[in-house]
Amino acid sequence: MSEERLYWNMQIEPFLNTPQMKDLQLEKLKIMLKRHYANSPFNRKRLQEAGIDIAKIDGWAGTVEDLLKGIPVYDKQGYRDHVEACGGDLVKLMEEELPVSVDELVLVNSTTGTTGEPTPYPLTMKDIFDVWGETMCRGLWRGGLRRHDRVLHCFALSMVIAGTGTVLGLTKTGAMVIPVGAEGGTDRIFSMTKYFKPTVFMGTPSLATYMIEKAPEKIGMDAKALGIKLLACGGEPGAGVPELRKRLEESFGAKLLDIGAGFGVSCDHPEYQGMHWLGDDLCIYELVDPDTREPVPLKDGARGEAVFTNIEGDGWSWLRTSLGDIHEVSMSPCPCGKSGFRYRIVGRTDDMLKVKGVIVYPAAVTGLLESFAPRVTGEFRIVLTERPPMVVPPLKIKIERGVDTPEEKLGELEKELLEAFHTKMKIRPKIIWQDPGELERSTYKGKKFEKQYE
Ligand SMILES: [Zn+2]
Repeated sequence: MSEERLYWNMQIEPFLNTPQMKDLQLEKLKIMLKRHYANSPFNRKRLQEAGIDIAKIDGWAGTVEDLLKGIPVYDKQGYRDHVEACGGDLVKLMEEELPVSVDELVLVNSTTGTTGEPTPYPLTMKDIFDVWGETMCRGLWRGGLRRHDRVLHCFALSMVIAGTGTVLGLTKTGAMVIPVGAEGGTDRIFSMTKYFKPTVFMGTPSLATYMIEKAPEKIGMDAKALGIKLLACGGEPGAGVPELRKRLEESFGAKLLDIGAGFGVSCDHPEYQGMHWLGDDLCIYELVDPDTREPVPLKDGARGEAVFTNIEGDGWSWLRTSLGDIHEVSMSPCPCGKSGFRYRIVGRTDDMLKVKGVIVYPAAVTGLLESFAPRVTGEFRIVLTERPPMVVPPLKIKIERGVDTPEEKLGELEKELLEAFHTKMKIRPKIIWQDPGELERSTYKGKKFEKQYE
């Protein structure tokens, strides 16, 4: 196949977000629900609770959304409850939830579990290559990745799907993958870059930003000298923040792709358009109201908690699963001309703060501060003295002044910042100034809160 073709998958991608895909989804969903019913006691119960008569499902003539809407959303709390019901035995939990036997799994990525039970990502060969690898191929192909590229993989290797699942899935692209992992630390990342000359960087936007800061010290040059032409960033919302995008693209001299939080990738339109959903044939995308869990119809500007149902997959078999992300969608064609509706991450259900009735997501603070760089470093912490989401005003934010911002200029800068917070976010926070580098850096995910109540 030609390396010049528009899409990786010319059978599917030209038809994303068309009625033709709806027909395919319904057909695949029926098969998937039958698999759950037959093999997963946990999901059989959920289907029964939703009043789905599996014996009659082949004759269902309604929409995909109507078929799904009675099934309760499965979220972090639901997961915790199930872990408890299984006595903390995650093998038992997987055996109960998956439409395949645990014996068929070949890889389990997992969160570390530092803040509770680890969440597993159980994968079979099919999940790795036909579901996730296929999604990676579609996304990175759009970003310009081809066989001759070399990908420096810097997500934490043990980290859910971004870790070894992505390393293996990426091999399907035909490019050379160099797994360093965030665990390797920046010294290794810089040395691997020197020896293997990668053309693509994959990692969190926090890590990419940290590399910009560290490059002069570590390689004696700025990040542009690394020779990276494509940054594929995900794992946190930063890659969708316009100001941060600009900084990353300019500093590396590279194109930036925002990936993840579902089966999506951003496009190369000069203005960020959100991520194009690439997985119509792999997973059904829905939005629900985060409070009532009622479906939110997909139309331009609709906001809600994103809920996913796999229609391809074995261990990866989400059934109305929420990852806790709040999305906003655009259903009309993207000005870039590529297929797939678009979604952008607005925040997380558990990151959401309410300050006197105003909803605040840390991602919005990231965006605002980036527009003030380099007068501030961009690093910040929201100080919480009580358990969120309610915050008694003023919202306290620790902000680092930029390296070249002297302390006597802070009064003036603070005035401008407060004005920006008021116009853009409708809040008047209390700013607590920090010296550059004072806040601890993270190579995994940017820390946004200082939880003093814990
Ligand atoms: Zn686009």
